[in-house]
Amino acid sequence: MAIDLHKLTQHDQGEDCPVCHTQQMVRGALIPAAAAWEVSEELPRFSVALHGAAELLGVMLGEGVAREEIDAALAKLLDDIGRGIGEDEVMGGPPQGNA
Ligand SMILES: [Zn+2]
Repeated sequence: MAIDLHKLTQHDQGEDCPVCHTQQMVRGALIPAAAAWEVSEELPRFSVALHGAAELLGVMLGEGVAREEIDAALAKLLDDIGRGIGEDEVMGGPPQGNA
């Protein structure tokens, strides 16, 4: 049973892109739930976020996915997210210099 992480990180251009669908689910439900859980358990901010992410990825390790593949997929996703944050700042923030 090969788990293809590359496929899991590739958007398809259709209406029902599974990557976009998953991202929307996580943003709409999982992120607020993790934040609420941190507050209700009086845990430091991002405790559940960080350990939740690591533990979920650890399940993949346990299923035999190579650590290098997980690292590479995570790096790509974080790069994409980082770019998205940069774009949001460009659109919402003040002009950055005059070059
Ligand atoms: Zn997509």
